[in-house]
Amino acid sequence: MALGFLAGAVWLGMDLHASQQRIIAEKRDLVQQKSQFMSQWFGTTILSTDYVLRDILGRVVPAGTAPQTAAPGWQEQTIRLLGEKSQSVEGLDGISFYGADCVFMAAANPKLIGFRSNQSFCRDRAEPVSSDTYIQYMPVERSATHRPVLLVSRNIVDGDGRLVAGALAAIDLSFAQNWLEEFPIGRNDVLAVVDGNDTLLARSPLLPGAIGSRAPAPAGQPSFGETRGSASFIARSPFDGRERVFGISKIEKIPLLVLVGLDREDLLADWRHRALQMGLGYLALLLLAFALLRSHRTALRQRAEMHRLAVTDPLTGVFNRRHLLDTAAEEVVQAWRQGTPLSVLLLDIDHFKKVNDAWGHAAGDRAICRLTEEMTVQMGPGATIGRLGGEEFAVLLPGCDPTEAAIQAQTLRHAVEQVCFEAADGVERSLTVSIGVAGLRPEDTGFETVQLRADAALYRAKAGGRNCVVVG
Ligand code: GH3
Ligand code: MG
Ligand code: MG
Repeated sequence: MALGFLAGAVWLGMDLHASQQRIIAEKRDLVQQKSQFMSQWFGTTILSTDYVLRDILGRVVPAGTAPQTAAPGWQEQTIRLLGEKSQSVEGLDGISFYGADCVFMAAANPKLIGFRSNQSFCRDRAEPVSSDTYIQYMPVERSATHRPVLLVSRNIVDGDGRLVAGALAAIDLSFAQNWLEEFPIGRNDVLAVVDGNDTLLARSPLLPGAIGSRAPAPAGQPSFGETRGSASFIARSPFDGRERVFGISKIEKIPLLVLVGLDREDLLADWRHRALQMGLGYLALLLLAFALLRSHRTALRQRAEMHRLAVTDPLTGVFNRRHLLDTAAEEVVQAWRQGTPLSVLLLDIDHFKKVNDAWGHAAGDRAICRLTEEMTVQMGPGATIGRLGGEEFAVLLPGCDPTEAAIQAQTLRHAVEQVCFEAADGVERSLTVSIGVAGLRPEDTGFETVQLRADAALYRAKAGGRNCVVVG
């Protein structure tokens, strides 16, 4: 029973553990998908910026010719164009136009005019220059605006790979912060943008002190710089210590990553609720089962006690007359069926009235009890002993013929002679018994006829001087 409950508890524990793992696995997939989706979205800003740069270059240097910088009003027109285009993509922090020497010739921010571009290919003067979109991340310490920015540029090159002109747009990464904050998230969830050097660039909810600090990938995970595509992991946040299920996706072509983190405790809230319900339900079931078991056991004990009271003699503890006669009837049927012998002893204390008269009724009771104790010891477990009434007893001996029964009766009679009972304070007395023996015969119609013969034999034993055994 206890083992069954233990097995039930183990099963419940395993089931709950498995469902928890399932939820975590589902959420890992979900956050990974979300981070992918967000990184793609962020990537479209880069794409839109690139379209704007193509458009500008198409207008300022049509068909790849050198810019007509000497033409009257060229700079004013170009600056106006750059200003207009800066407005067309969200998050753009200005667009600049540079010539073959990488020096800005027109810019939405006029202060930049005359400066050399900070793009690495401009610094290195590497040739040939690529005409592909070029993206460079400027961390705070290298940024002209002292804010982390993404520089996106596109070049026009001549047939020898030499730079003709180019346009450059700066994307302010505070745009990323604003953009992140537009996504609705749970109370303890987090969205973040980190760069490949593990620097936290934006975080929702905003944690001002944390922006710009290092947030390395957890142990066992590839560093953010090495992360390709997307992944998911479970980690404790270095900022608030909460454990979260993270999805991470690299933004295509640029060394930035979008992180989506769902609070582990929050996402398991329903599961915990269910686990608690199931645990309490199981406990209630357990208590109910225990209560039922207890009441069932009490009922069984009570029934057994009632049965014992119904079949035993209250003074001596041996079977009472009714039960002895019921058992005798069953034994007779059994003996007939199996063809085995059955004998009965009828036993009566000699001159018992004198015991009562001389020592009192209580002493008589003690004598009766001592006698039944001795009978129980002498007759062994195969015999059925019952009190027929007063100081008269019967012993059923299944499997015994009258000869064997007479031998057992003699042994008992001898043993009783040795028994002493306490007649009064400090006075020990003995007693004797007369025994009539009878065995089941083929002509018997039931136990009654056997009992009659045993009774007659007992009568003869009394008449013959008592303290003897007579077989009927
Ligand atoms: P006998 O040898 O002929 O049997 O003589 P006896 O005195 O034993 O005669 P009998 O068997 O007729 O007497 C039975 C007496 O046993 C009568 C009654 O006073 C006494 N007796 C019957 N039941 C009880 C009992 O439960 N307790 C006590 N103390 N005495 C009982
Ligand atoms: Mg008697
Ligand atoms: Mg009697």
